[in-house]
Amino acid sequence: MTEENYDIVGHPRLVRLNPNIPWKTRGNGAVSIQVDDGDLNRIRFIVEEAMKKYARMDDEQTNPGFVILEEPPSFETYEKAVKEIVSIEETKQLLDSLGADYKGYKNSRGLIGATASVAWSPKHDKTYELITYREENKWGTKRTVDDESVKKMDKTFLSTFDNYDYENNHNRLVPNSPCPILYGIRGENEEELIRAHSLIKSEAVDNLLIFETNQGTDEHLQKKNIADIQPYESVVAEGQVNKNPHTIEGGHVIFSIKDSTGRIDCAAYEPTKQFRKVIRELCTGDVVEVHGGVREQPLTINIEKIDIKQLKKQLEKVENPICPECGKHMKSKGTDQGYKCKRCGTESDKAIVTEKKRAIQTGFHETPVCARRHLSKPLKRWVNHNAF
Ligand code: ZN
Repeated sequence: MTEENYDIVGHPRLVRLNPNIPWKTRGNGAVSIQVDDGDLNRIRFIVEEAMKKYARMDDEQTNPGFVILEEPPSFETYEKAVKEIVSIEETKQLLDSLGADYKGYKNSRGLIGATASVAWSPKHDKTYELITYREENKWGTKRTVDDESVKKMDKTFLSTFDNYDYENNHNRLVPNSPCPILYGIRGENEEELIRAHSLIKSEAVDNLLIFETNQGTDEHLQKKNIADIQPYESVVAEGQVNKNPHTIEGGHVIFSIKDSTGRIDCAAYEPTKQFRKVIRELCTGDVVEVHGGVREQPLTINIEKIDIKQLKKQLEKVENPICPECGKHMKSKGTDQGYKCKRCGTESDKAIVTEKKRAIQTGFHETPVCARRHLSKPLKRWVNHNAF
């Protein structure tokens, strides 16, 4: 029940949209609520007052908007906004055709997310996030959330995810921005989220809400042939490694893959930390499926997850070949020029080799919790799906 006595139907919804849009706000999220029958003018008044009070119009990146709809737009409206680029113009046209009441502030871009948030439904997948809010006098100051209690919660409630990054000592519950949120716990199950929340030691919690979300669902991804990959999409692409990984300035690791349609660069950027160790072990000929967002210049897949499907046998030289006549090791004739027996002159280009032991294994590997995108489905959720 709100202060204005409207019953919120179901959960408020927090919907994340295309994470690769360069002009997006930080988390590219939009929220929506459903209320029971009410006076539309009154609802509009309440929403406008809230915008006046809370929207950060001074923030360059913030272009808020609200929409009031009696029926949700099609699910496809959401799908386009999570996977592709949607224009403000097409959103306004859609809203007009649906008879929506709406208002965009500044460049009105917020209308796109607001509309997509109403259009989302959890018909394919969903998770929850329990969000706690700070007392207003604390907004903008350093948050107090006890790391140890977060670790304990993480180990106790296995249906929660993306809580704590042990390798990088990063408490992922706490946002980086100076927003009113104290922390958010993501999970599969709302009852468990309440219990998980009770384990967290922190400064006073002013209020809390449990959102239904598309976080951790991979709904931004689309399977593509390499030649069809467009900038700003998020894709799943399978190919054979055709250029060994190399590390560039800034610690980013780049390699490339090809399929029958084309080739594309793939990158594990510095913030993905130890994930780069896996990527550096890939070799030409390995078969992988990469999941990630596409940046435009140069066209590169920013890897969120990788499924290593096949590791190519790598041979390494153990010693020079042995002469079949004399039984002695031959001598090298120089780099890549083969071998020759010093005594009898017999030549060979085949050194004695052994299969190199690979330091990585086939299967899925993902970026660490600290570098994970809101929409990326953590591998833990596959396990969770079997358990819950
Ligand atoms: Zn010989």
